[in-house]
Amino acid sequence: MDSAEYSSFRRKLVRWYADLARDLPWRRTNDPYRIWISEIMLQQTTVVAVIPYFERFLDRFPTVADLAAADEHDVLRLWEGLGYYSRARNLHRAANVIVKEHGGIFPTDLETLHGLPGIGRYTAGAIASFAYDQRAPIVEANTLRLYCRLLGYDGDPRSKEGQAVLWSFATDILPQKEPGRLNQAMMELGATLCSPREPNCAVCPVQVHCAAFHQGTQATIPRPKTKIAITEITEVSIAIQHRQQYLLRRRTAKERWAGLWDFVRFEINRDDQTVNVGQLIESVRERTGLSIEMGPLVAELKHAVTRYRITLKCFMAQRVKGSLTATDEWKWVKSADFTDYPLSVTAREFAERLQEDGVGCLPFD
Ligand code: SF4
Repeated sequence: MDSAEYSSFRRKLVRWYADLARDLPWRRTNDPYRIWISEIMLQQTTVVAVIPYFERFLDRFPTVADLAAADEHDVLRLWEGLGYYSRARNLHRAANVIVKEHGGIFPTDLETLHGLPGIGRYTAGAIASFAYDQRAPIVEANTLRLYCRLLGYDGDPRSKEGQAVLWSFATDILPQKEPGRLNQAMMELGATLCSPREPNCAVCPVQVHCAAFHQGTQATIPRPKTKIAITEITEVSIAIQHRQQYLLRRRTAKERWAGLWDFVRFEINRDDQTVNVGQLIESVRERTGLSIEMGPLVAELKHAVTRYRITLKCFMAQRVKGSLTATDEWKWVKSADFTDYPLSVTAREFAERLQEDGVGCLPFD
């Protein structure tokens, strides 16, 4: 595009955005803290799923100082169900850096923003442009697709070369005046009309500027990601009961869902779903020092994490011998108190089954 075409593109897009943009809670503010929270929540997560979390999070932590002063446990509890929990831990870490190193004032320059935990190039650009109206480019999932189509770019957009092309376009397209609004408008167009499948080109305000539309290549641009092979695994989750309490374990920093609590959980078999009860009892003894009697299978849950498709068999068990005192890693918890603990999604589902009438009293033979 030449400069006249850039101007025409911006005019049409901004007019469309003013008339038709969705009213979203994080668009009603230029507070960098709120924009930051929304951008982190929106990574890999839909707008509809984020809205209630965003509102609850800001009710509980209305300022960056409130977030920094919170216990990580409480931050994770509020995040529970949103997934990708490193986002919550990084938010908490970054809030502490802002309070300790920047006097609680949100940084304004792109480089400092980019240096905060969990803030990548895109998020830094979003905060700088939406909150401070700086001429900072953005490329995320929706704009990546939009830019590829506008440019008719059929290379790999995630390659080094593809990234250079897209970031360069994202920079050149920005006006001197109100660049934040243009970034918002491009994200909105990417998220609504220029959807992954069957983009609604008929009503697109920038159709005339779109190379993919002219070439009829919208369906094949951008080039899809290479598919990764899925691995099936079987895990067990064992709710060990002792004196009307259950044993919970806090997952360590090296595990997935670090910082969240779970029942005793481990992988048993990659090749088949057979459960060897003797081996389960031995594995629990190695992990906890407790001798247990295995109880009934309460639930079988299926879920996926990255390239793994997991079948999770949820058992009850009774402690028979041995003791395990409460530490930062282990706690005996009454089922009525499960709500105080941030749990993984499957652990929450299992916990809810255990709270159902009668499940805690199922026979052990
Ligand atoms: S014309 Fe179609 S493919 Fe091009 S930007 Fe608009 S919606 Fe996307």
